[in-house]
Amino acid sequence: MIAQTGSIPRSSAAAIASSLRLKQYPGALPRLGLFISKSASLPEILQLAPPCSCEDCGHGCTMGSGFLAEGDKEKLAAFLGISVQSLEKEYLEETYLFNKKVWKPKLLREGKPYGKCVFYENGCKVHPSKPLQCKVAMGCKEYGEELQLWFMLNHLIDKEDPESVRQFAQYLKAGGKTLPGGELNDLVPDKKQLREILSYERLR
Ligand code: SF4
Ligand code: SF4
Repeated sequence: MIAQTGSIPRSSAAAIASSLRLKQYPGALPRLGLFISKSASLPEILQLAPPCSCEDCGHGCTMGSGFLAEGDKEKLAAFLGISVQSLEKEYLEETYLFNKKVWKPKLLREGKPYGKCVFYENGCKVHPSKPLQCKVAMGCKEYGEELQLWFMLNHLIDKEDPESVRQFAQYLKAGGKTLPGGELNDLVPDKKQLREILSYERLR
């Protein structure tokens, strides 16, 4: 299996990094032997996130739900045999992250700020078509955090939206992590443009 980290021999790590087109960087070698960059493709990421299912991940589904990416609504609606409109109405809720509207399965909050995902019942009822963020939730793997950062950088932050970039800048300032290729100046390479965004001279 890909990236059983920790005990992974350095030569194997190099082979995996090469096959995944993930770059290596010296700082990561002791921990993982490879690193995931913002530009890793979805197929590359999914190689690190096999469609496994067990109780440990299920615990997270009792406390929240994962965000959908582009195209997920259609896949989920087809899996359930309903229209996208029905899916939104019956099973999804929307929220904003980095100034972007994102959808997630409804939470059964029962008066609490958190709650069980509407699709959770002794496991994920929509496992083959679950939201992309759920698919890349590999909390038991050493690289689980990197997968979530990859999702954030590619599916939550909109580099074309100055407000999204500003909120990302605040996130970084507060100590938020990112991936190689996911620094502010990677998202907005033009220094003048970035300065204008951060100083609110550029609003849209
Ligand atoms: S990622 Fe790990 S904890 Fe989650 S379902 Fe797979 S094996 Fe279980
Ligand atoms: S869609 Fe499935 S994996 Fe995602 S939070 Fe809900 S029950 Fe868990």
